[in-house]
Amino acid sequence: MDKEMSYGNDYHYLPVTSTESGVGQEISSDLFCLTTQIVNVIFVGQPDSDKWIVVDAGMPHSGDTIIRASEERFGPNSRPQAIILTHGHFDHVGAIIELVQHWAVPVYAHELELPYLTGKQDYPEPDPSVEGGLVAKMSPLFPNEAIHLGNHVTKLPSDFTVPAMPEWRWIHTPGHTPGHVSLFRERDRSLIAGDAFVTVKQENLYSVVTQTPEISGPPRYLTTDWKAAAESVKLLEKLNPVNAVTGHGPPFTGAILTNSLKRLTDNFDTIAVPQYGKYLN
Ligand SMILES: [Zn+2]
Ligand SMILES: [Zn+2]
Repeated sequence: MDKEMSYGNDYHYLPVTSTESGVGQEISSDLFCLTTQIVNVIFVGQPDSDKWIVVDAGMPHSGDTIIRASEERFGPNSRPQAIILTHGHFDHVGAIIELVQHWAVPVYAHELELPYLTGKQDYPEPDPSVEGGLVAKMSPLFPNEAIHLGNHVTKLPSDFTVPAMPEWRWIHTPGHTPGHVSLFRERDRSLIAGDAFVTVKQENLYSVVTQTPEISGPPRYLTTDWKAAAESVKLLEKLNPVNAVTGHGPPFTGAILTNSLKRLTDNFDTIAVPQYGKYLN
């Protein structure tokens, strides 16, 4: 039994932030989105209840911020039932070890994402040459080495159920990473999209810092399979979500969400796919 956990050797704090950092936003009574620097962490569960789940684990060194925000929402010393990862990029697992140590809760991710979470395989290097803005140019600074969660991480059940989230199901949305998943709840058509699509142009530093809302494909510098990414967005659009919270940018709801998702699927090649970059085939 391997109980050791470690980050990759290239793990470090990243001095990039946004005006929304530290801000929490309620999308519906049991859906809450906390921005840490430039990435969203999602809490699912009614305030003050003892049944809640965390989706994604923020930027490196954001553990205290996440714990503090969770205690504000669910009460002192409250802890979630599980942490679900949409994928294992550094900005979605940045505080995972501190959180697992603090809460002692299980982590779940798609089977195809496990090699990156158990020290077996590094993500491909980010592509600074990809068409895009300053964040893309900065992307060589981003950690891409596998982290090691040992036996704290388990694969999501193959029947598409999500542990501790009975109303939700997971959907395989590869492209940005091989084992990327999104989460969907039929009852109110809520979608947690991870980085399958995002609502801020993640390559562009000005947009990231100001969190300017704009539907966009997955962050370009780390996306390696654009064909799969396009199929994944189509799949999500067909679900007709009413609320969507993504990995980066503000939540989108109602007609704005419907219209912008349709625009993105109809024009994926021009809006999402870069003109040039090393991961274009
Ligand atoms: Zn990502
Ligand atoms: Zn991300």
